[in-house]
Amino acid sequence: MTDPTRRLTVLSGPAGVGKSSVVAALRERSPDVWVSVSATTRAMRPGEVDGESYFFVSVAEFEAMSARGDLLERATYAGNLYGTPRRPVEERLRAGVPVLLEIEIQGARQVRAFDPDALLVFLAPPSWEELERRLRGRGTEAQAVIERRLAQASVELAAEGEFDEVIVNTSVSEAADRLAALLR
Ligand code: 5GP
Repeated sequence: MTDPTRRLTVLSGPAGVGKSSVVAALRERSPDVWVSVSATTRAMRPGEVDGESYFFVSVAEFEAMSARGDLLERATYAGNLYGTPRRPVEERLRAGVPVLLEIEIQGARQVRAFDPDALLVFLAPPSWEELERRLRGRGTEAQAVIERRLAQASVELAAEGEFDEVIVNTSVSEAADRLAALLR
């Protein structure tokens, strides 16, 4: 169970499971938790704000950060690079502030190496059918893209056993309640 001295928490899980909605609901419940802002090379989506949603950087900038050791973990996801800036996380942890990372699974594995005491939380879909429905319903992507995502999601689902805690996302508010309780 939760070690009160353990203040670095990772929320991970397959694409389409609803990680960002759960994090948004958690922010309302637990304003004391600091949510890390990642660097990414992917294009900004409508409504996103540089420095809030992500730090949007070029591949060259990302690789320079990585080479300087400024990233705590990094991963390639759907052809783009993502990474967690190390220093802001370390500063918050030193100050005793609970830190949450919302990242995909390859990154979660690297966090385990960075901080063996980190709490790794897996957000699971209520069922495979539900995840499939969410991934298919996301837009009008080509069939091949959807099939690739589904294949990726089934690999991601298999990682559940590597995590300390599993939260089933039957409802965003219940999942956020459970996450808030784990962070306390
Ligand atoms: P999106 O492009 O939809 O915002 O994010 C794609 C995936 O990348 C999501 O699963 C998200 O959790 C993950 N992600 C976001 N930031 C990071 C990060 O800094 N590191 C890793 N490993 N994954 C990240």
